[in-house]
Amino acid sequence: MNFRAVAEVFLEIEKRSGRLEMTDILAELFKKTSASDIDKLIYLTQGILAPPYEGIDLGMGEQFAIRAIAAVSGYPKEQIENHYKKSGDLGLTVEEVMSKRKQQSLSSAEMDVNFVYKSLLKIAKTGGAGSQDLKVKYLTELLNNSSPAEARFIVRFVLGRLRLGVGDPTILDALSFSKTGDKSLRAELERAYNVCSDLGYVAKIFFEFPDKISKFSVQPFKPLQPALAERLSTPEVIIEKIGECACEFKFDGFRLQIHKRGSEVEFYSRKLEKMTHMFPEVVEAVSKLKAKEIIFEGEALAYNEKENKYYSFQQTIQRKRKHGVDKASKELPLNVFCFDILYLDGKDLTETPYNERRKRMEKIFPLGLLKLSNRKLVKTAKELDMQFKESLKEGLEGIMAKDLNAPYTAGKRKFAWIKLKKSYGKSVDTIDAIIVGYYLGRGARAEFEFGGLLAAVYNEDKRKLETVARIGSGYSEDEMRSIQEMLEKIKTESPPSSLDYKMEPDFWVEPKYVVEIAFDEITLSPTHTCGERDGRGYALRFPRMLKMRSDKSINEITTVEEVIILFERQNQH
Ligand code: AMP
Repeated sequence: MNFRAVAEVFLEIEKRSGRLEMTDILAELFKKTSASDIDKLIYLTQGILAPPYEGIDLGMGEQFAIRAIAAVSGYPKEQIENHYKKSGDLGLTVEEVMSKRKQQSLSSAEMDVNFVYKSLLKIAKTGGAGSQDLKVKYLTELLNNSSPAEARFIVRFVLGRLRLGVGDPTILDALSFSKTGDKSLRAELERAYNVCSDLGYVAKIFFEFPDKISKFSVQPFKPLQPALAERLSTPEVIIEKIGECACEFKFDGFRLQIHKRGSEVEFYSRKLEKMTHMFPEVVEAVSKLKAKEIIFEGEALAYNEKENKYYSFQQTIQRKRKHGVDKASKELPLNVFCFDILYLDGKDLTETPYNERRKRMEKIFPLGLLKLSNRKLVKTAKELDMQFKESLKEGLEGIMAKDLNAPYTAGKRKFAWIKLKKSYGKSVDTIDAIIVGYYLGRGARAEFEFGGLLAAVYNEDKRKLETVARIGSGYSEDEMRSIQEMLEKIKTESPPSSLDYKMEPDFWVEPKYVVEIAFDEITLSPTHTCGERDGRGYALRFPRMLKMRSDKSINEITTVEEVIILFERQNQH
């Protein structure tokens, strides 16, 4: 597959906004793609080089890309920078300067997808002293062979800003369309993707062995998309929804998906980043398991067994910073409260009902630091409420009610798990929103260069981010400093392209960090765009930051629909 043809399709996709049109265009492209190229094409469309858990990052800053663009076009760096200031997009800048470039390449050859992919991978894998110069050199070579349109996408790609507006659901639809002309294989493909989190790999198997997709199995070292919990606000509605259920404590720790094959062990965070090196004591504990191959999940937190005292997520994380990894693992060891099992010695357990999975777990755990999550079967709202109060007494944040018959719902929120969380002051619920901008400190806070956050939730219908709160409180001085430092690094000239907004912060940032917000109530406000109707959007009243949710990704933020449900429920009370 010629990369020029791919760039043309990308151009076409950018002009469309409808999902159906995009699906058609992509399906046509996939039809022409060979089984040996399909995985690379999928990654390139996603704007990545490998599934995120492989941790392959191109890591190229704007300044380095500008150097490569200057070298390939023959224009001085300052001119490129000036153009960029106006266009706000280095992809458009490179396209423009390359179409008018002063020096034409002597050796320009047509590039295929494989070549572009491998060149980008080479840039990503170049590390160590002097690596930035080498990366610039490789990028210059790649651009030298590119047409202006190819260059536009390559530059956006290396900066991590491809953003075609094509989400994974559209790619899944297009894969199904490319083989059957309809969506009939979509559900199978989606399940396969949810249990391995590697869309390139799923597409490759689909192209090579189409029959295997319906029997696609979980496998060690390909992490599953974590199952997600629904939220309901009283024990009564929970029992109404799922009836008799298992009630487990909700631990406020660090979710780990643990994979083991023989002596090889790997942990993945909720965002599926590899975390193995962070928890040496847990690696040791997992190595002692008898199972040859196993995948299970649990919540890791510091726990003092003698005093039966649980430490919070913040304290768990801080103990590493304060005491160092080695000392912390000895003095305040982590325990993992295991709550699910997904695979055991060759058997995929994701379709097995939860109650059976639990029975299997009970044969394996507890073992040393690997504890079992506490659980109790409950039939009535009263019993559920007692467990909830018990959990608060233990210093935990609430309970998880689990449907006894549910399979493991990888990547989905399906009422298989329902959370009931403690309230914060007047705040019954909290929401998780994405930070899109921040404000400078004023008055007493001027020294912090930080005076609050602008946060947004996700509108699934419009596929847009919409602002819901300006959060001015809830921060300690340390937090203000660290949040400001974090955000300063991801400042952008313009707002995120997917954001609908009315309020403008002092600085826009890339939509990268998730924040959990408590609030008194939800109101309608002319300054926010969340679910906007007649000029007013839903907004949080007295929002305050509870904590940064570094364990959550943008895919997990609260949706506009959920905000509306919370609003309606609040008005019923
Ligand atoms: P939340 O982060 O508020 O959306 O709640 C879901 C999270 O609760 C999961 O991702 C887990 O990290 C955590 N959790 C704590 N205890 C349990 C449990 N017993 N079962 C499942 N998840 C749990």
